[in-house]
Amino acid sequence: MLVDKYNRVIDYLRVSVTDRCNLRCKYCVDGEFPFVAHDEILRYEEIIRFVRICSELGVTKVRLTGGEPLTRKGIPFLLKEIFSIKGINDVSLTTNGVFLGRQILDLKEAGLKRVNISLDTLKRERFTEITRVDAFDEVLMSIEKAMYTGIRPIKINTVVIKDFNDDEILSFARLAKKWGLEVRFIEFMPFGDSALWDSSRIVPSRVIEERIRTEYPLEPLSNATKGPAKMYGIAGSEGKVGFISPVSTHICSECNRIRLTSTGMIRPCLFSDTEYDMKSLMRRNAGDEEIREFVESVVEVKPANKHEKGQIRKCQRNLRSIGG
Ligand code: SAM
Repeated sequence: MLVDKYNRVIDYLRVSVTDRCNLRCKYCVDGEFPFVAHDEILRYEEIIRFVRICSELGVTKVRLTGGEPLTRKGIPFLLKEIFSIKGINDVSLTTNGVFLGRQILDLKEAGLKRVNISLDTLKRERFTEITRVDAFDEVLMSIEKAMYTGIRPIKINTVVIKDFNDDEILSFARLAKKWGLEVRFIEFMPFGDSALWDSSRIVPSRVIEERIRTEYPLEPLSNATKGPAKMYGIAGSEGKVGFISPVSTHICSECNRIRLTSTGMIRPCLFSDTEYDMKSLMRRNAGDEEIREFVESVVEVKPANKHEKGQIRKCQRNLRSIGG
């Protein structure tokens, strides 16, 4: 088992498969949008090897993310390979949904059982304004297709930002109720160079929850997946809402994850810019044992929490390049 010095068991690996994204969300990226050169990105056989080594250390759960994972060719292949690794019992995907509809059958055939789709507005024009791409219809169609193929749960991830999309909180709750989906509201986090970032833009989960309760009675649910979301059922429906509060609450003591960036860096804490170069080690032909020891040493220095002098750390890189 991978256990850090604060007794947290690390059994969850988030793998960013690309830094590329087909959207340009205003709160995520600003200005220049340079992509990393192709050979700096981990090849599939390197990702698969790394996941296998992590699984031997006790990792059981993997999520593919990016950039936008579905901009990279062959994701169904990668999923299938990761599913076949002994000890891995859960593989999921986080996507903006634009290309999901056209790949959903291949992904399902590869073994995908659940998916998280990021969507921050239910208004077509606003979608284009936020993402700088006119692809709202594709995302809605992808959600519908995923529902028809029987993939469950489908989780919609919505970042709530003050005076940007916080007027849509009830619309998202309505969507959860009507479509029987799980909508998870995420607090705006301090990443990268977005001109939009300002701590006054954070809408705390408590405020989002209160607003939903004005229209929808909520019933607490146990958190079966051990994830960071506080989950509720919407009374009288299959719909659920969840609240992910990285900024307003202290969830670090329950953190069970490490990240692998698309360039092969291990990032033991989302909120710390310190990363550890696994790719160079692997490309210097390190054996499995050496990589295993490296992972253990990285877990050993996983920070206790995301705060520095009582403040949440502001990270240099945006989530697109880290792997959100
Ligand atoms: N392209 C995929 C997607 O859209 O889900 C995966 C990568 S994206 C960076 C992952 C998630 O990070 C998205 O839900 C996005 O909204 C979220 N995100 C990006 N910047 C954020 C920020 N500053 N605060 C909170 N969430 C953010």
